[in-house]
Amino acid sequence: MLLTLEPDLTADQLQQIEDRLRELEVRVEKAAAGVRPIWVIRSDGGEPPAERLAAIAGVAAVLPIDAGFPLASLALRGRPSVIRCGPLDIGGRDFVLAAGPCAVETPEQMEACALATRRAGGVLFRGGSFKPRTSPYTFQGLGREGLRLHREVADRHGLLMMSEVLDREDLPAVAELADILQVGSRNMQNFPLLKAIGRLKRPVLLKRGLAATREEFLLAAEYILAGGNERVILCERGIRSFDPALRNSLDLASVVLLKEMTHLPVFVDPSHATGRRRLVAPMARAAAAVGADGLLVEIHPSPESALSDGPQALLPEDLLRLAGELADLAPVVGRRFPRPA
Ligand code: PEP
Ligand code: MN
Repeated sequence: MLLTLEPDLTADQLQQIEDRLRELEVRVEKAAAGVRPIWVIRSDGGEPPAERLAAIAGVAAVLPIDAGFPLASLALRGRPSVIRCGPLDIGGRDFVLAAGPCAVETPEQMEACALATRRAGGVLFRGGSFKPRTSPYTFQGLGREGLRLHREVADRHGLLMMSEVLDREDLPAVAELADILQVGSRNMQNFPLLKAIGRLKRPVLLKRGLAATREEFLLAAEYILAGGNERVILCERGIRSFDPALRNSLDLASVVLLKEMTHLPVFVDPSHATGRRRLVAPMARAAAAVGADGLLVEIHPSPESALSDGPQALLPEDLLRLAGELADLAPVVGRRFPRPA
């Protein structure tokens, strides 16, 4: 069984719960030690009745072990999470624009992208230095050198840096420099990586796997939450479909469903979802309209020479136009978004 405990219990109160459980002859495994702890309990004899466990002071709920995702659940938490990051309230009133290139390439490209992001009212500056490319013969990213360039340009423009971490080996290097870690679609179920990120305090944007159900997506988030890291942002980025006309199929209904199921903020990435520049702004507006908490948008000053994902990259002027539309839309859905100058 799973026990969820009341938030903010003292060490004494936790000890009393543990003592009481020992009297009832159950063993306790501590699964998550965040603000709202989750304990897995096991018993060699029959498990004590749920009412007995629920009656212990400090126990919030008693759930079956396959209850799903108690830490990510909106029903159990009761209200949406707001993740404070720099000046942003992610999941709160702010509609958040994260923009930047697919891959960090050169100082000039990063400078142009940072300027465009800033101008458009973006606060998060994305860019991959460790790239998960389908072919091993294509550009794999600049690695640590890219991270340093990204950090330097982000700082110069007062932007927060978000970058993908591909494996545990690179986690210390990415976590040292990035304000927000990104876990890509292909790594959504890389459980050792999720566990390692769960031990950090750094916010993380977790992208939905190419063929993952919502439940699998939320259970992947649960891995990070169960490690004690409560700052998880989900991102819909399209799922595989049978239709080669689009790179992926953007599951916008899922944004609405996820917001009913979880307290975690939900972003939308219309760039990878469509793979086509022309479709990015319409899908971005649709995402804002259905209640997404933010967007992840790829941009490039000269998409025709981009080293990855050029066909889906917005030009700086496209991003600025989209930002004006988001500023019109945001108040209609109860959000704040700065009007670009
Ligand atoms: C990315 O955002 O650069 C990326 C690789 O996205 P995804 O993991 O969604 O394919
Ligand atoms: Mn990309």
